[in-house]
Amino acid sequence: MKEDTCIFCKIANGEIPSETLFENDEFRVILDLGPATRGHALILPKNHFADIYEIPEEQAAKAMVLAKKIAIQMKEKMHCDGFNIVQNNGEAAGQTVLHFHMHLIPRYKDDNQKIGWNPLTPSKEELAEIRKTFLE
Ligand code: AMP
Ligand code: ZN
Repeated sequence: MKEDTCIFCKIANGEIPSETLFENDEFRVILDLGPATRGHALILPKNHFADIYEIPEEQAAKAMVLAKKIAIQMKEKMHCDGFNIVQNNGEAAGQTVLHFHMHLIPRYKDDNQKIGWNPLTPSKEELAEIRKTFLE
């Protein structure tokens, strides 16, 4: 399951070279070329799934287990102080490459990056309405 025009298919399957941190039959972990911090890496499945809606549950679970392994190694080897896992789905969520990937972002005290949002201030009624909509 590869897409001819997908750059992450080509990287994951070794057709385009990358700085690879880990590889097995199903995944390749590479360094991001536009990193947020030192060591920012991406988990790429070797098969093409556009996003979390397309990736099978079993592969998604394996990707999270792999994220944990890399997080431990980043702590040991890069001496990071914290760790963000980010996974964007759809243009509205900031996804620019439409091949499922997880960002693994080591964080350092004073790295001057921010990954977050501006908190809204919903009323109790709004929260209750959202819950009702979700549960319908
Ligand atoms: P997203 O916005 O979640 O789709 O993230 C795409 C990420 O892929 C960005 O952080 C880019 O810097 C990174 N990226 C794009 N092309 C490459 C590439 N050829 N090699 C490594 N990372 C890339
Ligand atoms: Zn792909």
